[in-house]
Amino acid sequence: MSSTPIVIVGAGPAGAATALRLSYLGIPSVLIDKASFPRDKVCGDAISGKVPTLLNRLDPAIMDRFRRRFTPADVWGIRFYPPSRKLIELPFKVGYERIPDEAPGYVSKRIDFDAFLIEEVRRRPDIDLRLETEIVATERNGQGYHLRAKSGETWDCQLLIDGSGAHSKFSRHEAGLDTDKDHHAAAVRAYYRGVTGFHPDNFIELHFLDDYNPGYFWIFPLPNGEANVGLGMRSDIVKKKGLNLRRELDAIVASEQFRDRFRGAEQITPTVGYGLPLGSKDRTLSGDHYLLTGDAGHLIDPLTGEGIGNAVYSGFIAAELAEKCVAENRFDAAFLAAYDVRIERVLRTELRLSYRLQQIMQYKWITNFLTGIVAANPKVIELLCRMYTDFELRKQLVKPGFWWKMFRTKTGKLPAIVRK
Ligand SMILES: Cc1cc2nc3c(=O)[nH]c(=O)nc-3n(C[C@H](O)[C@H](O)[C@H](O)COP(=O)(O)OP(=O)(O)OC[C@H]3O[C@@H](n4cnc5c(N)ncnc54)[C@H](O)[C@@H]3O)c2cc1C
Repeated sequence: MSSTPIVIVGAGPAGAATALRLSYLGIPSVLIDKASFPRDKVCGDAISGKVPTLLNRLDPAIMDRFRRRFTPADVWGIRFYPPSRKLIELPFKVGYERIPDEAPGYVSKRIDFDAFLIEEVRRRPDIDLRLETEIVATERNGQGYHLRAKSGETWDCQLLIDGSGAHSKFSRHEAGLDTDKDHHAAAVRAYYRGVTGFHPDNFIELHFLDDYNPGYFWIFPLPNGEANVGLGMRSDIVKKKGLNLRRELDAIVASEQFRDRFRGAEQITPTVGYGLPLGSKDRTLSGDHYLLTGDAGHLIDPLTGEGIGNAVYSGFIAAELAEKCVAENRFDAAFLAAYDVRIERVLRTELRLSYRLQQIMQYKWITNFLTGIVAANPKVIELLCRMYTDFELRKQLVKPGFWWKMFRTKTGKLPAIVRK
């Protein structure tokens, strides 16, 4: 049996980021995962700007190593297709120049990205990495938690950081985070080769289709002519409509709307599915001697399905609080509640905004009306681009007054509230 202050269960983006941030703060940890890496994770593989920003904060050499080793697709924007099919192209940066090393986002297969994070973990001697080690029991003891692996090995820790993903037993049974189908999505994905018609600068594509709302069909470009193709929807609607998402994905790909783009393409992996615990419901992610990070803390964006960035962010926040816990030898719920305070400030406001947009977009006519305004006005497109990095500006999106002003701005001139 080992006794150690901090044990992290799960070495996906949340757990690996927690261990790395702790290590850069000079704090050792034990990082445990049941898988051996490289391992796959069902995902759209889109890595938003949050991830390079946070990893650069640790050390800019990390992202350099990532780009050299895995040459991910550098992504410069989004192609947004509302139900009306009126294409809107939103670059992430206004007037950008395509320099791959400075890309605002990437698409990288998770089998590569997660293995890369493990490589970074291995560079840090103060992270005790245990792979192929499944935690099967977690019990409270006087000091904190007692963990037991399938192999029989055990650990006692003062702080348990759970990064064990969407199916975390600890999150459900010990921390009490239920699976609420109204705040949960189901999604399937397959890899294809030979899909055509991409934007030359690797814009990711979100297609909001009539029959799959709230949710979307996606096509994300990967290097070497491959693409990540998938369909995600809120779980309550999947259940209500009795949908089989694998079959629906096949039907969309074969439909008249996409037939041309998939004509010469071949599906190179089976269609696989997984759940997305959405961050649209406020939850408490801390308690006596524990913190929940990433999917274990239900932190996926309810509009976009993006969870990697929030997994990494929550890992950083957990690590930074853990540093204080160690310094002050405090691991009680009252002290750890500071985690929820910071999650609230950094992530919840954004998650709530995405939830409101997800709800607004349930009404097809509203989506078509708003996207009609956007498509007709290049200045509005420019403004939306700026919203990618400016959260205060993004808040305007849920205000009817904003759209009214845009509607009236026939000249293309921005109204004063947003003309900065
Ligand atoms: C179909 C689909 C598409 C998605 N597309 C995107 C996208 O394009 N972009 C994006 O940002 N997000 C996307 N997401 C969300 C994203 O995949 C998750 O938010 C992200 O993986 C969360 O990371 P995590 O580290 O919390 O969990 P995970 O990545 O699930 O990692 C959890 C780790 O814990 C380990 N583990 C679990 N149980 C145990 C145990 N008992 N003992 C030891 N180890 C254990 C697992 O082996 C795993 O390695 C998508 C999700 C789905 C399902």
